[in-house]
Amino acid sequence: MTTTSIRYWLTGRVLLTLAAGLVVGCLVDQIFPGLFLALALYTLWSHRQLCRLLDWLNQAGDQELEPPESSGVWGEIFDSIYRIQSRHSRAKKRLANVIDRVQESTAALNDGVLMADAHGCLEWWNRAAGELLGLHMPDDQGQPLTNLVRNPKLARYMENSTGKEPIKIDSPVYEGRQLQIAITIYGQGSRLLLVRDVSRLHQLEIMRTDFVANVSHELRTPLTVICGYLETLGDAVAMNPETPPAFSRALGRMQEQAERMQRLIEDLLLLSRLEATEPERSSQVVSLKPLLAGIIDDARALSGEKQHRVHLECADNSTVQGEPMELRSAFSNLVYNAVRYTPAGGEVVVKWWHDQQGGYLMVRDDGVGIDPVHIPRLTERFYRVDKSRSQMTGGTGLGLAIVKHVLLRHEGWITIRSHPGKGSEFVCHFPLTRIVL
Ligand code: ADP
Repeated sequence: MTTTSIRYWLTGRVLLTLAAGLVVGCLVDQIFPGLFLALALYTLWSHRQLCRLLDWLNQAGDQELEPPESSGVWGEIFDSIYRIQSRHSRAKKRLANVIDRVQESTAALNDGVLMADAHGCLEWWNRAAGELLGLHMPDDQGQPLTNLVRNPKLARYMENSTGKEPIKIDSPVYEGRQLQIAITIYGQGSRLLLVRDVSRLHQLEIMRTDFVANVSHELRTPLTVICGYLETLGDAVAMNPETPPAFSRALGRMQEQAERMQRLIEDLLLLSRLEATEPERSSQVVSLKPLLAGIIDDARALSGEKQHRVHLECADNSTVQGEPMELRSAFSNLVYNAVRYTPAGGEVVVKWWHDQQGGYLMVRDDGVGIDPVHIPRLTERFYRVDKSRSQMTGGTGLGLAIVKHVLLRHEGWITIRSHPGKGSEFVCHFPLTRIVL
């Protein structure tokens, strides 16, 4: 029955009752009492149907219960409600099935999956997450994760995880195990956390850094001896006018390459130290003006006859919290690169400033520039835009990797803007917490 026909049916029923009341009233010569009686009977009947409807709804609750027998419009109402109820309960079953399947499949995962609300309180987690983080269902449900897993790195990550790389923390349950945690924000700020046991990968990583550090260390001493002898030979050759020119040239090349190897080993050692050690907790307040001025003096010396114009813009009282040696190493790599990849007479600007978001060190040059396709990979070890160009400038291919690691240890990051022939701009970003105002 459609809504219009129900309306007609209802009106018809009322009119019919009134007509019946009128007829009976006329027969007994009591029109108004007759009408009143008919209406009262009709209201009583409707009231009874309403009570049956209410009883049925109360009894049914969440289940599907056959509606009471009824005819006419009331029967139609009972059937419609029953149909809606059946539709809802079918949809509910379907949803429950999907949820069960999702929960079963995530429970079978070896990686931990946790769901937390916008405040970081745990709503649900799978078996692996419970094991890896030592969580207990249902006691820990509704508790903030940071109360259950006490780790400052995790607390910082939970507070501000947007766009950040996953973090690694020590397992709160198994000693010596490493966990990787990645957070994805969804819906109204809810969080989905993925937890992986990366102990094996971590172990391999440690073995790799140790290997590189040990090899570099072992190579350092023989190389120092070779360099020493090459220098002595060079002095002897310089003093002997009868030395064939080809011999002096060969010796010069040997010295150059030996020095390059020394620089490479120093950079490798520095890089493995940056990777292998935790950043110092009690970092110092570093005064930037003298640090940058020293780097700029060295850059001018490096430029030599090429006469680059190197400028520094930095307020006298600018400071940043960090490790002075590491910062010096990162900044000098950027400034020396600017000099090395800028033709003679070019301009290099080094500028420090800060705002409400943090501090910035910019190194800009008007040199050869870099094709944007290379920029995402530039901070990888030994990644070179142009091998021959880099070899000509005596680079080790590790400079920008060192910069990236130093900045990571200072909770910072680097952005690079460059175009071939238009120069390059490298900006080191430091968070506000590192800026001493
Ligand atoms: P390298 O020791 O070879 O300079 P880096 O890691 O310092 O290694 O730099 C990686 C590559 O990035 C370099 O080979 C060079 O091609 C490019 N590059 C770095 N800085 C600049 C710059 N200021 N201008 C142009 N190219 C640059």
